[in-house]
Amino acid sequence: MNTAHTVGIIGGGQLARMMYEAAIGLDLAVRLLAEAPDVSAARVVRDVTVGDCADPATVKGFAAGCDVITFDHEHGPTGLLAGLEAAGLAVRPGPAALVHAQDKRLMRERLGGELGLPCPAWRVCADAGELRAFGDRTGWPVVAKASRGGYDGHGVWRLDGPDDVGIPFAESLPVSAGGPVAVIGEEFVDFTRELSVIVVRGLDGRALSYPVSETVQAGGVCVETTTPVPGMSEDRKNAIQALGLRIADALGVVGLLAVELMERPDGGVVVNELAMRPHNTGHWTIDGAVTSQFENHLRAVVGLPLGSTAARAPWCTMRNVLGGRSADSAGDFAHVAAADPGLRPQFYGKSLRPGRKRGHVTAYGDDCDQVRARARTAAADLMGRPDV
Ligand code: ADP
Repeated sequence: MNTAHTVGIIGGGQLARMMYEAAIGLDLAVRLLAEAPDVSAARVVRDVTVGDCADPATVKGFAAGCDVITFDHEHGPTGLLAGLEAAGLAVRPGPAALVHAQDKRLMRERLGGELGLPCPAWRVCADAGELRAFGDRTGWPVVAKASRGGYDGHGVWRLDGPDDVGIPFAESLPVSAGGPVAVIGEEFVDFTRELSVIVVRGLDGRALSYPVSETVQAGGVCVETTTPVPGMSEDRKNAIQALGLRIADALGVVGLLAVELMERPDGGVVVNELAMRPHNTGHWTIDGAVTSQFENHLRAVVGLPLGSTAARAPWCTMRNVLGGRSADSAGDFAHVAAADPGLRPQFYGKSLRPGRKRGHVTAYGDDCDQVRARARTAAADLMGRPDV
């Protein structure tokens, strides 16, 4: 078995922090390239380099001590990563796959165009006139997106009519070190709900899918997931898992792939976007699946056999904790934990700011409604608000 033992993680957010926890269990060494000394993962990892992931000298120096490079975020420029690969370093997922998580235009061309997978109608719009023509053809509203550099809803605009077409061009587009940022017009999908499927693909091409999740977004941020997605036939769930596996295979992903989807009123789904790293909609797997997404991502990138993706309980709800009562996470958790000993918390070690993801709580059990209610009550309590 060709395994690598020192894993370099680019990005020091909570995903790297939770990967580190899984790395401890596997006895893998971790090096971290963090954007600042006090970010979430840099507070716990011992071997930390602080620097800019877009700076070639920094990345090369960091990578020299690693057997394999992987990611907490997708902002590493693909040209730079391709240079590391060409120099013989293992980069997983590789830049040829990763670019589809960085660039929505390339993702749509590949998935919707070449592979014929279900996507909303879309086109690149060079100016407001082209965006207007797109909206007049597909119908209003329209969703405009920056092809690169967006996150948590930044770089996504809902345009209600032709009068709004100047908005994405007037606002400064996100900056991306990886390539030019285009404006994409997308058909507005009147979705009934959002879904996510997480698959993991190993070095040998074998891949597994986690159960499909229902996800709830508020203000561009994931606030809740329930797994498995309630009220969906086994056939449809299987088809969504097959879609995820097909994408991972076609793009040659090594590691985790999260596919965000929108469900149309007729039950059909379209792909919204991809992520190639552990994903917020997979946090439930820490407590709710036999092998967490973090462990399986690491297993894949170092060349270990993948672990079972089966759920441990019939239902699992993860609820994000945004902001909070105080900076004392453990203290805040005390009375929540006393009221419901079955809850599982993860706090990310971040300073408190209104609306900022500070952690999440997971509840699991036999009854979907009860599990959801428990997670909501706990998160609302931790956020210092009345129950949602
Ligand atoms: P980000 O890269 O910031 O996560 P997304 O592309 O995921 O941006 O879009 C953010 C949210 O906007 C989605 O979760 C969804 O709620 C909504 N959205 C995105 N695309 C469409 C669309 N074509 N039609 C309707 N809503 C959309």
